[in-house]
Amino acid sequence: MGENNREQKQYFIETIAKFCDKCGNAYSINDLEIIQETSISSIIHFSCMNCKASHIATFLKPMGISNRMPVNTDVGVEEIKGVMAKEGVSTDEILDLYLFLKENTQIRV
Ligand SMILES: [Zn+2]
Repeated sequence: MGENNREQKQYFIETIAKFCDKCGNAYSINDLEIIQETSISSIIHFSCMNCKASHIATFLKPMGISNRMPVNTDVGVEEIKGVMAKEGVSTDEILDLYLFLKENTQIRV
């Protein structure tokens, strides 16, 4: 985890989300965990220091678009990484992650 990683996380904060959806707390690079990084996409876990709300974001580099969804805080980063590791690191497997997260997603009203 060197300077590149810090820069990258800062970039994701600028590009994907500067603030927590739930409480409005500003994210810092310490709140981000890069789960998967490929040449065309990134999967980033956002976790709010203040209210503990978690989001998973996917960022598609060629399009510069991102998608974010809330996740149950019971689902840890390590668990998500485990799913990614088991399923392989192909971009196609993002769908599997989505399905996994969908089952574990807590919709907050
Ligand atoms: Zn928050």
